[in-house]
Amino acid sequence: MDSWTEDRPFKDRFLELFKIARNKHATVADLAIKLQEEVQWNIEWSRPPNTDFEWLQWSGLLKELNKIKSLTGKDRWGWVNEKWDEFLVAGVKELINKQSVTEQEDRWIHWNSWVPAKIIYFTWRVGIGRIPAKKELRRRGVLLDNYICSRCRIMEETTEHLINECMGAVSVWKRIIGWMKLPATADISSCKKTLAYADDLKGSVEWKKIIKVIMQATMWHLWKARNEKEFSGITRSEDNTVDDIKTDTFLWLKSRSKLKDLVWERWEDFNIRDIVK
Ligand SMILES: [Zn+2]
Repeated sequence: MDSWTEDRPFKDRFLELFKIARNKHATVADLAIKLQEEVQWNIEWSRPPNTDFEWLQWSGLLKELNKIKSLTGKDRWGWVNEKWDEFLVAGVKELINKQSVTEQEDRWIHWNSWVPAKIIYFTWRVGIGRIPAKKELRRRGVLLDNYICSRCRIMEETTEHLINECMGAVSVWKRIIGWMKLPATADISSCKKTLAYADDLKGSVEWKKIIKVIMQATMWHLWKARNEKEFSGITRSEDNTVDDIKTDTFLWLKSRSKLKDLVWERWEDFNIRDIVK
């Protein structure tokens, strides 16, 4: 899709972004902040990227950074600092709609203001099968030692296998579905089907919005657990993953929704009936 050649420095290939970057001497390593579980790209701008072209470059730059991470076997890219989150929701929406058109894919309908922008972007990519799962990397000509799921060590690692089909993932889903008090027959067979299932549930708009927050968080945490296993050899237990999903979603709702009466003791049991409209 992009026309940048491989061997030119980033500043030449992403000139429009370079113009608005504050630190023009930064190397890729300078921009990376290694957190415990992920790398975030801390690029300071004199102003946020805002033209179509800058957004396309931003997307291209992230792809390149992602490639570096994949090939050195460390971690995937994160998202730039959270302070911009409000801006990013709008920016990401624009970016996604633009890409949806150029890539002739369905428009993304699962916008949710209680979900951080980077998670929306991630789940959109899951929905169209564009996360760097091994099968997808192979399709793009990236050579890896193997193309097997590092969790079960049996199946080929596809997006759907990782997020919806691997035994460990299914077990996390079943526990999350049980926690949300949804029927065990809930459709968890793919990202899109799972979110569509939530849309079709009978219940209030607010309750469904919470269900979808949790579903998107589940996809994100399954991917995080996968990366920990793949790149650090750490097997995160299903208990841990479920706890992380509960904690993250609680924090998102506390900071992003108007559900101020939400308390952890009740969230732990998904006892939200009287605080949700
Ligand atoms: Zn597997």
